[in-house]
Amino acid sequence: MNAATNPFRALPSVDALMNQPAALELVAAYGYPAALEAVRAALDDIRARLRAGEPLTPDADVILVRAADHLRREFTPTLRPVINATGIIIHTNLGRAPLSVEAQQAVQAVAAQYNTLEFDLDSGGRGSRLVHAERLLQDVTGAEAALVVNNNAAALVLALSALAQGREVIISRGQLVEIGGGFRVPEVMAQSGALLVEVGTTNRTHAGDYERAITPQTAVLLRAHASNFKQIGFVESVPLTDMAAIAHQHGLLLIDDLGSGALLDTAAYGLEHEPTAQESIRAGADLVCFSGDKLLGGPQAGILIGRHDIIDRLKQHPLARALRADKLCLAALSATLGHYRKGEAVQKIPVWQMIARPLDDVRRTAEAWAAEIGGSVIEGQSAVGGGSLPGETLRTALLALDVPQPDAFTARLRAADPPVIARIAGGRVLFDPRTVLPEQDQQLVRIVGDLMQTEER
Ligand SMILES: *Cc1c(COP(=O)(O)O)cnc(C)c1O
Repeated sequence: MNAATNPFRALPSVDALMNQPAALELVAAYGYPAALEAVRAALDDIRARLRAGEPLTPDADVILVRAADHLRREFTPTLRPVINATGIIIHTNLGRAPLSVEAQQAVQAVAAQYNTLEFDLDSGGRGSRLVHAERLLQDVTGAEAALVVNNNAAALVLALSALAQGREVIISRGQLVEIGGGFRVPEVMAQSGALLVEVGTTNRTHAGDYERAITPQTAVLLRAHASNFKQIGFVESVPLTDMAAIAHQHGLLLIDDLGSGALLDTAAYGLEHEPTAQESIRAGADLVCFSGDKLLGGPQAGILIGRHDIIDRLKQHPLARALRADKLCLAALSATLGHYRKGEAVQKIPVWQMIARPLDDVRRTAEAWAAEIGGSVIEGQSAVGGGSLPGETLRTALLALDVPQPDAFTARLRAADPPVIARIAGGRVLFDPRTVLPEQDQQLVRIVGDLMQTEER
């Protein structure tokens, strides 16, 4: 057999391929070993297809294009930006809160250069990373002291480990919630070595239930915000001020796990009132914990605020070191809190910009998209998400596309660069402008517009 009859013979050698200009570009971009492996993989793939009887004799250019595709896929980070067109503002799977411009800049500056993470410029000696966000947290929440850890789950574990290990913590049966991703309040409590004492029933817990459960072994009354579900009908829970009174009469601590931890009133934007951190402090909670990347609109963090002596005990606990926040988090958090301190949170923090964005404004964007892409504009609902305000929605305007195969279409949207995440309802693909950042608007129009054109062909 010669090359004309044996297709394997017609394949260029690895060496010949690696000397092509296109291969040298791959070597420059990805390094020699990765480029070589990709070329070998492309050749292996072609040989396998030839053995399977496929009548092909790809030339060097085609093989190198395949190697380049392989390398591009390999080097695309698994953690990468996407366009969130779902209308869910705090989308846990899509990274929760996008940061404000100022918070991004703060991260960039601290990431690129040496900084004062644990250095005191006045004395020239060692400082503490705990000071960076503390003053701002005191100022915006009215709490005596504050501590930042890795996330709110860590905050709860630290609080209960330091304050209730081997002792009893009383919680209402109506608050033994699972947050999502398998995070269950009772299991986290167990991790801390605290003994869980459940009181009340699923739907009703009274002050007397807490009082009767208190023993000499009790250390803490805990309230956990129900976050992601809502009870309606014959329900009763004990107000935080009453829980504080009971706790303090018996020499116990009241801890409030707020979950989302708003600092602003969601009721100003047509939503139900989400409890704020300031309210919990005023109601007499000794310690309040909440997330940094839910309604606060900052980086992933667990924020603990409360009494000075309690926060000090947490700071000294060995777990505080294991759960501590890193410099990038502290930079972003401080910048985010600065927006609240200056009274500009709604103007600067993306999560709040989205919550506050008027329907007419959203509709104008949806109509502009429809003019360029096609489809129709319909009314719909956006959700806050992030385990806050369950069942509460914001009226929105959506771009609705009728396509023959919505599932295949959304898969193609996810394969785009950047990926576009949309939702399907009533057999149509829906895009909510509320959660699409202004700088992504034109990218979305280009990607969806291109896909629609290939649909029509
Ligand atoms: C979200 C939530 C948590 C977990 O917070 P992370 O910051 O995700 O660790 C804990 N408790 C409640 C009530 C929550 O809503």
